[in-house]
Amino acid sequence: MSRIPQNLQAVHAAIAQAAQAASRHPDSIQLLAVSKTFGADAVLEAIHAGQAAFGENYLQEALDKMAAVAAALLPERLPSPEWHFIGPIQSNKTRPIAEHFDWVHTVEREKIASRLSGQRPQQLAPLNICLQVNISGEASKSGVAPADVAALAQAVAAMPRLRLRGLMAIPEPTADFELQRQSFRRLRQLFESLNAQGCTLDTLSMGMSADMAAAVAEGATIVRVGSAIFGQRNYEK
Ligand SMILES: *Cc1c(COP(=O)(O)O)cnc(C)c1O
Repeated sequence: MSRIPQNLQAVHAAIAQAAQAASRHPDSIQLLAVSKTFGADAVLEAIHAGQAAFGENYLQEALDKMAAVAAALLPERLPSPEWHFIGPIQSNKTRPIAEHFDWVHTVEREKIASRLSGQRPQQLAPLNICLQVNISGEASKSGVAPADVAALAQAVAAMPRLRLRGLMAIPEPTADFELQRQSFRRLRQLFESLNAQGCTLDTLSMGMSADMAAAVAEGATIVRVGSAIFGQRNYEK
């Protein structure tokens, strides 16, 4: 038996508890179910349990899964879920992302943003964008440096087929709740300073299975949760 419905319920309860501790309304936090490495059947099961938004990291896997999910939902007359791209973006792969996703969380370069804007089909709503910020400062981590976020935000906000929504980060993993909060606080402070400079950002995409409570405490509006919903990932498959 799959535990996806129960896991979803437990994650919602954990979000609600963290929200309450932070005097926030639980509805101000959207749960993005990260379905990478899991199949269309797992996504469909989550949809039937009420989940409406899914995050994917690997483009080809995502495109195959999206088509299978859409085909399965058609006879049920259920609306398609919202799809969020949360993986690294190669510049030669921007077109299918612009054509098939509702959100992209991992924009870190103006060139990529410009391609996504140019390739976003006219009949679709503007593509929702979060800028990925490197808040841990490790050489290996992707994301724009905090000092360069304002310039990138200004450039992206001016692109006609993109809608700049906010900031995203994947901090260095730590089990220490206070250290988790410190990283997320840096992203929130950056978000607040951009808004004070005239941006109109409404999204802080931060927190995963292991640190979502700290992210909610620091103002996350989207938490990206995979293994706590779908179980342990197996990359061999
Ligand atoms: C895989 C992934 C997640 C989900 O991670 P879990 O630890 O399984 O919750 C969230 N965000 C990004 C960017 C990811 O790549």
